Amino acid sequence: ISGIVGFLGLGVMGREMARNLAQAGFTVRAFDIIPGAGDALRSFGVEIVSEISAVTRDADIVISMLPDTPQVEDIVRGSDGLLSNPPRGKLFVDMSTIAPEATRKLSQELLAVGVTMLDAPVSGGPIGAKNGTLSIMVGGDAGGFEQATPYLKAMGTTLNHVGASGAGQTVKLCNQLICGINIQAICEALALARAWNIDLPQMREVLLGGSAASWMLDKLGPAMIEGDVSAGFRIDLMMKDLRLVLEAAQKHPVPLPATALVATQYQNAQAYGEGANGNQALFKVYDRLTGQ
Ligand code: NAD
Repeated sequence: ISGIVGFLGLGVMGREMARNLAQAGFTVRAFDIIPGAGDALRSFGVEIVSEISAVTRDADIVISMLPDTPQVEDIVRGSDGLLSNPPRGKLFVDMSTIAPEATRKLSQELLAVGVTMLDAPVSGGPIGAKNGTLSIMVGGDAGGFEQATPYLKAMGTTLNHVGASGAGQTVKLCNQLICGINIQAICEALALARAWNIDLPQMREVLLGGSAASWMLDKLGPAMIEGDVSAGFRIDLMMKDLRLVLEAAQKHPVPLPATALVATQYQNAQAYGEGANGNQALFKVYDRLTGQ
């Protein structure tokens, strides 16, 4: 495998994805605004650079994994960004979760300078990023998808082209809507069971064997029960995603009452200071509501 990858954003997800690209044999040049964020990647052969133009210059593909829409707009439109420094391979894949509408605008602006932009948000969390088993939902040009596939395969096992620019983000928002409501459902079940002195680890096992089984109950259930709030997918990021879902449901009016309620519960968690903790910390809201 050969190819030069420029990688932007070395947080919880990005650092694992950049490492997998390097371990698959690609040349990876990476940048994060936090100095030192990528230091641990050097031992895997990732070159850490100190400005965006050094990432984009000779790249066959630029990949970003940033928090939210404004950061992606920044790396595209900023003075050092992709519009003024298009990558050699004319391909940009944004794997962050951001607004579908903003994605479409950015992809049009980039097309005007000859760069194809794909939106390729992911599902699978930090474990999926670490193991290279992410599910990647891709929107944008079909030829661009083909060009990006070898790179995406180094990071994920389920790759799907789901439509035109922005479609990947819309599918991801649907994924987040289901995840958020599911986490809230688990919190309600655990709170009720706890009030009735049920053995929670046993209940989780029982439920995993029946029709209430879910990825969230499987992966987040133990941390919820044990009160381990260490970050994975942060409360703040889910709140951002639920906001994007509700904004998307205003643009093409669709009532989403359960999503709106769950967003309020995430806001409560933020107000209680849980924003930087993992999503399992949503259950902490119930510690307060039920006086635990
Ligand atoms: P993170 O906050 O840990 O990482 C983001 C990184 O981007 C940070 O290191 C930050 O310093 C860097 N950054 C910000 N602005 C930058 C800029 N202008 N240039 C370069 N770097 C910049 O977030 P994360 O958990 O890695 O998530 C990244 C994206 O993936 C988010 O959109 C999130 O919603 C999505 N996502 C996260 C998970 C998860 O479980 N953590 C799962 C699926 C999708």
